[in-house]
Amino acid sequence: MRGEPAPYDRGMLYRAVRAINAVYGLAALGFFIAAFFIAFALTVVYPIVPLLMLIASIFLLVFAVTLWRILKAIELALARRQIARGKCPVCTGELLSIETRAKERDRGLRMVCVRCDRMYAADGDEWQPDPDDEIPAREDPQRGVA
Ligand SMILES: [Zn+2]
Repeated sequence: MRGEPAPYDRGMLYRAVRAINAVYGLAALGFFIAAFFIAFALTVVYPIVPLLMLIASIFLLVFAVTLWRILKAIELALARRQIARGKCPVCTGELLSIETRAKERDRGLRMVCVRCDRMYAADGDEWQPDPDDEIPAREDPQRGVA
């Protein structure tokens, strides 16, 4: 019998997707650089192979970007689900809303986890404040409004 998966399993899935997304860009770059050197090494021996690889790389790039967008969408959807419950997607700690100047600029409300201090935007993405973003003190979440 298949029931609703436990929140713990979703947390594991979120952390797995998040870990993949964290290294995805560098891994894709490494793959294409490695492919370049393979193609370069084969230019004299089998000139047709680098030519085919060049054509294939354009389609591979489209595939890599599409896969990246899908993975990111899964990560954000899983994070939003937890954020809607007021729980940190990573550690299931309590989330507090914070007011920042960044709110006026883009994606809206920010949340900070009381346990692990990670910050999230409303769209589920982990949020790194800019140096000019004023982060109110934890003890008084309303201070930033003034
Ligand atoms: Zn947390």
